[in-house]
Amino acid sequence: MEKRSAVVALPGPRAAARSVRRPPAWVRWLAVGGPAVAGYLALPAGVAADAVYGLLGVACTVAVVCGVRLHRPAARAPWYLLAAGQLLWTCGDVAYGMYEDVLHRAPFPSLADVLYIGAYPVLATALHLLTRRRGPGGDRAGLLDGALIATGLGLLSWVFLMRPAADARSGLLTQLMSLAYPVADLMALAMVLRMLVATRMRTPCCWLLAASLLLLVLTDSVAASLAVATHGHLHVLDAGWLLSYLLWAAAALHPSMRTLPEAAACRPAKPSRCRLAVLATTTLLAPGVLFAQGVSGTDRIDWLAVSLASAVLFLLVVVRVWDLTAQLRVQEHRLAELAELAGTDGLTGIPNRRTWDVEVARELADADRTGAPVCVALLDLDRFKRFNDAHGHLAGDHLLRSAAAAWQRQLRAGDLLARYGGEEFGVLVVGLGAERAAAVVDRLRLHTPLEQTLSAGVALWDGTESPQALLGRADRALYRAKSSGRNRVVVAAEEG
Ligand code: GH3
Ligand code: MG
Ligand code: MG
Repeated sequence: MEKRSAVVALPGPRAAARSVRRPPAWVRWLAVGGPAVAGYLALPAGVAADAVYGLLGVACTVAVVCGVRLHRPAARAPWYLLAAGQLLWTCGDVAYGMYEDVLHRAPFPSLADVLYIGAYPVLATALHLLTRRRGPGGDRAGLLDGALIATGLGLLSWVFLMRPAADARSGLLTQLMSLAYPVADLMALAMVLRMLVATRMRTPCCWLLAASLLLLVLTDSVAASLAVATHGHLHVLDAGWLLSYLLWAAAALHPSMRTLPEAAACRPAKPSRCRLAVLATTTLLAPGVLFAQGVSGTDRIDWLAVSLASAVLFLLVVVRVWDLTAQLRVQEHRLAELAELAGTDGLTGIPNRRTWDVEVARELADADRTGAPVCVALLDLDRFKRFNDAHGHLAGDHLLRSAAAAWQRQLRAGDLLARYGGEEFGVLVVGLGAERAAAVVDRLRLHTPLEQTLSAGVALWDGTESPQALLGRADRALYRAKSSGRNRVVVAAEEG
């Protein structure tokens, strides 16, 4: 018989190579894309550079689609919209390149600008779909904070980018188009800050998206200020846009892209110091701009923009404060409900032992000041176990409920009936002596429903004893009522 080989087969070189873990797709993407951007920068401006730029743009669009195929998120439409927006940008880049390389001029506004600007609403819709909070109430606080941030930064953008850009152009259409970029960037910035500050969207995918958008806004702003100053275009700025595209695609290739909607669906972040600092800074931008313009002695003070922005900021803060006070009122109401629930017996609906202990101590403290007589009585249903055994536990519960309701009807508004535990109840009577309080409790005995009876012990507070001592005397009186035949009320003797 052939012996079975005891030699363990070693993996071949291919299997060994496969077992070495390859870096994830998004890392490989950045590892290839980064050097490609550097390679682009090394090329002199011209047809070849523009072709590489366009190809990189197309590669980013393809990478976003690959990310969707690879990670299969539940909602794919927003990611395809992102890819469409990216493609529009790339088409804009190609159109811009054609103007520069073929026509040797860069008209403004041109088809390229229409494509660039047209991409923003597509991208904004995609981002909104990805980051909106579902569920009751939506994310009103996040939206208000986003609007606050956008207004503050909008003022800055107006003073330093939009107005100078518009002033540098002539013709309404041209001026409007030059305003469209900063406005679109502003919206993008507000969305990023909202995503990072107002919600808890802190997954790697969110960070990559945020980094991409921040880089885009930064590059756009630098390009806009340079264009105003020099009327020119810097080749190196293209690296900013290209890196922003790369990060965009890396976000789609990162596995956490699958959980983006869940990250968005979680509750918005509680007001944090960071959020407060961001909001305080943005609201201070309006007075800050006015101060800076006043101090610098510039002949053009943006009084209209500053007053408009301040008015909007104030109104947004008022709405936010109003919402917070409304939230406080709701919480207060809920707390009151919870406190009531915590002090109420679940079965009978009357106060429970916790409330009883608090009320007895409070009444004794009051009586100490006023000198009013205070009596406590402990009531116990007779042979309740037998009733339970004979009719069932549910019937026992029903007896407890009906007894509590019937006794409650016999008491004055100021008297307290509480469930002490099991089939035992406590009655607190203020303003009556022992005999009259015992008569009240005897009335309860006669009104015990379902032909049942009770035994009770009543004790009058001696003016000095502790609540425990007082209840101890009432309990001993109850014991005497039980041992002397039940269905009776016994008044406790004073001890001392
Ligand atoms: P006594 O006359 O000496 O007071 O006899 P008793 O049967 O009333 O007293 P015992 O302490 O022997 O039994 C009390 C019973 O009350 C036992 C327990 O199962 C029942 N019980 C306590 N809490 C509840 C409740 O919430 N619902 C019902 N149905 N029964 C309860
Ligand atoms: Mg009992
Ligand atoms: Mg009993």
